[in-house]
Amino acid sequence: MEQKILEFDTIIIGAGSAGCLLANRLSADPNHKVLLIEAGGKDDWIWIKIPVGYLFTIANPRTDWCFKTEPDPGLNGRSIHYARGRVLGGCSSINAMIYMRGQKSDYDLWNQATNDPTWNWGSALETYKSIENYFGGENEWHGTKGEIRVEYPRVSWPILDAWRDAADENGIPKIEEFNRGDNEGCAYFHMNQKKGIRWSMSDSFLKPIQNRKNLTIMTKTQVLKVLTKEKTDETKQNQKYNERGWANSKIETYGLEVLNENKKITVTAKEEVILSSGAVSTPHLLQVSGIGSKELMNKINVKQVHDLPGVGENLQDHLQIRTVYKVSNCKTVNTMYKNIFSRMMMGLEYLFFRTGPLTMPPSTLGAFTKSDDNQKSANLEWHVQPLSLPKFGDPLHPFNAITPSVCNLRPTSRGYIHAKSSDPLEYPKIMCNYLSTKEDLDIAVTGLKKTRAIMKSNALKPFSPEEMLPGPNLNSESELQNAARDLGTTIFHPVGTCAMGEVDVNGNAKDPMTVLDSECRLRGVSKLRVIDASVMPSITSGNTNAPVMLIAETIAKKILRKN
Ligand SMILES: Cc1cc2nc3c(=O)[nH]c(=O)nc-3n(C[C@H](O)[C@H](O)[C@H](O)COP(=O)(O)OP(=O)(O)OC[C@H]3O[C@@H](n4cnc5c(N)ncnc54)[C@H](O)[C@@H]3O)c2cc1C
Repeated sequence: MEQKILEFDTIIIGAGSAGCLLANRLSADPNHKVLLIEAGGKDDWIWIKIPVGYLFTIANPRTDWCFKTEPDPGLNGRSIHYARGRVLGGCSSINAMIYMRGQKSDYDLWNQATNDPTWNWGSALETYKSIENYFGGENEWHGTKGEIRVEYPRVSWPILDAWRDAADENGIPKIEEFNRGDNEGCAYFHMNQKKGIRWSMSDSFLKPIQNRKNLTIMTKTQVLKVLTKEKTDETKQNQKYNERGWANSKIETYGLEVLNENKKITVTAKEEVILSSGAVSTPHLLQVSGIGSKELMNKINVKQVHDLPGVGENLQDHLQIRTVYKVSNCKTVNTMYKNIFSRMMMGLEYLFFRTGPLTMPPSTLGAFTKSDDNQKSANLEWHVQPLSLPKFGDPLHPFNAITPSVCNLRPTSRGYIHAKSSDPLEYPKIMCNYLSTKEDLDIAVTGLKKTRAIMKSNALKPFSPEEMLPGPNLNSESELQNAARDLGTTIFHPVGTCAMGEVDVNGNAKDPMTVLDSECRLRGVSKLRVIDASVMPSITSGNTNAPVMLIAETIAKKILRKN
């Protein structure tokens, strides 16, 4: 294997949601040399662009890492497919395109965890406005000058309109939109699309600047190791490498070992290395590079370079419980897709008007409410789909049906990501520990009961809904708990595996499990940051892509201010 050395100012690992924005912002100065490294390939495949293409991109090694979780006792021993984008744009190239900011209470929790006023709803709102291009024009809640295009669905379904009425009957009012800090209510999701075409974070931030001379984008290149050395005198003397998280560091990062076309290359960064490889790969890469807990390093036979027990811990995810109801007197995707003529019509409608079911994210309708009065804000979210299938990857049911899927937005169960060996190419152990707390089980059962109540409402009577899953014969608390374990699956929102926390000016963390300070500097290793979904101390109570963009934009500004 050949060894080459390439030199840059800043290196970003992963051209996913966060990585695309960072590459854009940090290469704005033409004198600053930036390298963006992506393990996957280009995002020029048609099924990435056509929204319904997620049916072909998820679970496809061309675009998905195709991770699997460990058999989970909380899911009655099931191991589930854990999709993560492996292509320019990362997960934003294969995700369900729902544009959802977190709620105000989420940022209060980040503020508490970090003791840094940077994290608060007021600033978050201003940042969201600045990075979005909202279909409805500029107003108190939205901006139009940013890169992230946000649009309204281009297809409607009478059965979903009726579901909205039914939610209203159950005290979940119809609202114009989510994203105003309190999501309680029912509305059609806004989406990251432009005129019926997926608008990923690569479309938003990378495509417009990909020809910058000071930006190098390496695709099909996997980072194998973060390289560290003793802190140099120059680094010790530069205040910006000695602030908070980096204050008492003895080591610094200087580059990476990467695999490109079967050759190992060393790339070096003068200013810093940023890990944006996502909540699964970021902690894994740190662990195989010797940054993590002593126990794990001993287990995987890696020489520890820095003790940081929080790396890979605190994994949080939203578990969706997918119920299925057979319906009559209406159309759903199931039967439209089965019929060759209507499939052709859907194709033609898309071709000529960019409307119809091909523009559809899996879920177009959403609802938020509280599982009980003690909750500070809505902690249940429904994604309602005018389609159904036994499980992801299976064909659609041959009858008309809908899938109201409900998830607990603030789970208390915690899992972890642990390297299985020192080999960076071996996938890590993903243990989610879903439904491992009584609170999560109780909320899962409440979600199922509330779904049933909505489905029994007058507004849905004309469609004669029949419960297929979990099944009308399951009624006791333990039967419903078991149903949640049987039906639960990820809604693809892993976060928290390199969490930010409170770190003082001397680099001391209040909680030893803190991995990053509130500016995403890795505690104890100068010139190394994590900026992606891993950094969230607690999961946002909604879908996670927009909050990742908020984090990336907020920290990019802080980095630029110091350069
Ligand atoms: C199927 C699916 C549906 C979803 N639906 C929605 C939705 O509708 N709305 C929403 O808000 N959120 C949704 N999400 C979640 C959201 O997309 C993610 O939270 C967000 O994209 C995460 O961004 P990130 O930057 O942390 O990581 P990613 O976008 O995962 O980016 C990480 C990048 O790093 C690359 N990488 C990893 N390891 C290496 C390595 N060693 N070397 C080089 N490159 C590497 C990866 O290939 C990837 O491109 C969904 C996610 C999935 C998977």
